[in-house]
Amino acid sequence: MQQQTLAIIKPDGVARNLIGEIIGRIEAHGLRIQAMKMIHLSKTQAEAFYAVHRERPFFQSLTDFMSEGPVVSMILSGENAIQVWRDLMGATDPVKAAPGTIRRDFGQSIERNTTHGSDGQETAAFETAYFFSQIESVN
Ligand code: ATP
Ligand code: MG
Repeated sequence: MQQQTLAIIKPDGVARNLIGEIIGRIEAHGLRIQAMKMIHLSKTQAEAFYAVHRERPFFQSLTDFMSEGPVVSMILSGENAIQVWRDLMGATDPVKAAPGTIRRDFGQSIERNTTHGSDGQETAAFETAYFFSQIESVN
């Protein structure tokens, strides 16, 4: 199934000059970039993006981290794009992520894990619309 998903290169990835490395992996795996921009989220914007996690103990720390510096957000598309991108990222915790995945190669901790990916079709629809207007995404 053709899908769209939201990918984010998190502040730890941008700060360590990993944008090109990560985009290279995305393109090498056949995903298409349909929209892309760099943005420095405010704390409030990070809280709204991660609202599903607001009751979790790491919510404050996570939203501080996500607003500490710029991120690169992208809409990726392709066959099974949601799972393809999650497989490329690897498990949330870098020490549990499979060899060769982005989080295993670059993640610093379960929080500072370098990339984000939508976890399903409903969240992908919410997250892509949160970051991009229709005019910012190619067809
Ligand atoms: P993401 O949504 O960022 O793609 P994910 O779906 O693998 O990651 P979630 O459970 O949705 O993981 O958690 C969202 C983010 O919150 C994680 O990517 C990570 O940055 C942070 N996080 C998750 N669990 C913890 C934890 N136990 N302690 C600190 N931060 C955490
Ligand atoms: Mg998630």
